Amino acid sequence: MTQPKKSYSDLQDSYLFYNIAQKTKAYLEKNPDKKLYRMGIGDVSLPLCDAVIKALHSAVDDQSQAASFHGYMPECGAEFLREAIAAYYGKRGVSLEADEVFVSSGASDELGDILDLFDQSNTALVIEPAYPAYVDANVMAGRKIIHLASGRENGFLPMPDDSAKADIIYLCSPNNPTGAVFNREQLRKWVDFANENGSVILFDAAYEAFIEEEELPHSIFELEGARNCAIEICSLSKTAGFTGTRCGYTVIPKELERCGMNLNSMWVRNRTTKTNGVSYIIQKGAAAVFTDEGMEQIHENIKVYKNNGKCLMEALDKLGIWYCGGKNAPYIWLRCPKGMDSWQFFDYLLNEIQVVGTPGEGFGACGEGYFRFSTFGSPEDTKEAAKRLTELLG
Ligand code: PLP
Repeated sequence: MTQPKKSYSDLQDSYLFYNIAQKTKAYLEKNPDKKLYRMGIGDVSLPLCDAVIKALHSAVDDQSQAASFHGYMPECGAEFLREAIAAYYGKRGVSLEADEVFVSSGASDELGDILDLFDQSNTALVIEPAYPAYVDANVMAGRKIIHLASGRENGFLPMPDDSAKADIIYLCSPNNPTGAVFNREQLRKWVDFANENGSVILFDAAYEAFIEEEELPHSIFELEGARNCAIEICSLSKTAGFTGTRCGYTVIPKELERCGMNLNSMWVRNRTTKTNGVSYIIQKGAAAVFTDEGMEQIHENIKVYKNNGKCLMEALDKLGIWYCGGKNAPYIWLRCPKGMDSWQFFDYLLNEIQVVGTPGEGFGACGEGYFRFSTFGSPEDTKEAAKRLTELLG
């Protein structure tokens, strides 16, 4: 008899976005004439930039001619894209060889797949509140998870101590959902801690392009010693609006070894077995992101989201509501006012001003009493949401 993997029965239902969808649906059924202002979405709203669209069209044309047609692509990524990504890191002083960069179909895929590199007996540290996939992917693998709560007292950026000892350490900076970003000193402490304990850090840099303060690190590899203890997972989803186009990348330095095994070589072996690479057309589109023209255009789009953030932060400042994030991240993490819990505040905003956000409790127990606004909505809706918030809570 086939035995399904037992660990799947340890998964908790992911009720957060389901509950939000149910509540907003019920509200609209009762109030069909009302418009909702959706400040909860983690998906982008702006289309792909011109440079990417042109590259995609041209790659489609390439596929129509025998001379320029591409079949299977190299499993770990096309050389032209791996080199473009390595050069992107180079601009920030991080020297990578092209074969330390692996092209992926996105960070979600990689965050799950990369766990193939680690034994089931390894423990995984998740700093909460957290992007839910970290916990679920490890529960599926049957791994023990150590939950490390963060809070306002440490700006949602906890430092390592004995309670954080784990074989695999997830760090997400800029953070989803809190928008908090580790500075160099803080990140150095995690790198040193991982090296001292023989842990591997999985550094989720999905929001690095949103960092605007010069001194903040975009990549863990800006820190000395990180090449011996870290894997970086990144995505073009939020950087360049690729949520529906799908492309990301993972960096595994050649120095990264544990118990005499080289993780870069292991990942090559894994990819060449389990994938046939990302499509030529998508990789051409992705490479256009890293051209001067592409960089300029994606930052124009990011500016739109940043202005949304400013608009929401101005409203919160006026109201005297505590928040973090927003400046170097597309998320704003706020304390629910008037002593409300996360879901009470959700209902209050939905019913009173038709603004939809994300209750912090859905990202881990220590998110209770907090709330997340996303800045990925349209500027018009964001302005209106900020105005409504100010009127309701002012
Ligand atoms: N990591 C974080 C922290 C995210 O918030 C997201 C998506 O919202 C992802 C990874 C997944 O990104 P992708 O679209 O590349 O799968």
